[in-house]
Amino acid sequence: MNLDLTDKVFIVTGGSKGIGEAISRTIAGEGGKVMIATRSADVTHKLVEELKTAGHEVAAIIGDLQDTENCKKVIEETISVFGSIDGLVNNAGMNDGAGLEAGPEAFRRSVNLNLFHYYDLVHYALPYLKESQGSIVNISSKVAITGQGNTSGYAAAKGAQLALTREWAADLLPHSIRVNAILPAEVMTPLYRKWLDQSFDDPDAKEAEIVAKIPLEKRMTTSQEIADMAVFLLSSRSGHTTGQFMIVDGGYVHLDRSLT
Ligand code: NAP
Repeated sequence: MNLDLTDKVFIVTGGSKGIGEAISRTIAGEGGKVMIATRSADVTHKLVEELKTAGHEVAAIIGDLQDTENCKKVIEETISVFGSIDGLVNNAGMNDGAGLEAGPEAFRRSVNLNLFHYYDLVHYALPYLKESQGSIVNISSKVAITGQGNTSGYAAAKGAQLALTREWAADLLPHSIRVNAILPAEVMTPLYRKWLDQSFDDPDAKEAEIVAKIPLEKRMTTSQEIADMAVFLLSSRSGHTTGQFMIVDGGYVHLDRSLT
């Protein structure tokens, strides 16, 4: 299937690690141009150099997306480098475990870390997305619909991302801008590895316990499998899909528990 991404321009937040890295690589592999907006400079510059050497058009802007001015800069820089914006993948975020015991400050920090930049980037990109009839993909989480325990801020942000997916899909109908969400469940990424290693005395045993509960093939979803859904949603091949929550999780959330 030709996704027709050639020469189209996409912003990927958190686009140099984990799920975001897979999305950036996949867009580039499909002939698209990528602006990576993230905060870890070294790993990002390495990825940009690698992709450029392979002949892809990729750039990066380094900064914390919690700063609204930085979000504005991401859009300005993308226009200055590439001239247009055909799609935005809101992906940067982390499960920081700010639960009920953590208190109001931690809750607000967590929502700030995970939510406001999703809005800010869409707000500043809007004129350009209107021009291109672009596509927005919000990376949410299964936590938005299952809960997890001890992570109020992250759950609130991920749930709000789903609400905004529907709200923006409705709001942007007149402009033919499509808005969809992907809900990963268990994907091995640098963040997930760190969580396992730092949270459990026996991370391998914990990983095996989690994997055993994933119905399809008893394995984690790969970042590539999330990226494949993301590029499909960015492409015109999903031209009549909007306001949808795509749960790419090997049946983790919905299939009969007796199967595992
Ligand atoms: P990851 O490996 O940590 O990659 C996320 C990237 O986003 C990192 O490079 C991180 O930078 C960057 N980032 C985070 N907050 C940022 C900010 N405020 N400003 C700029 N950059 C920021 O995480 P991942 O596991 O791929 O997660 C990607 C998305 O998928 C997140 O929204 C997460 O909630 C969602 N998700 C993941 C899973 C999973 O199983 N992995 C499950 C459900 C949902 P640093 O390296 O500097 O932190």
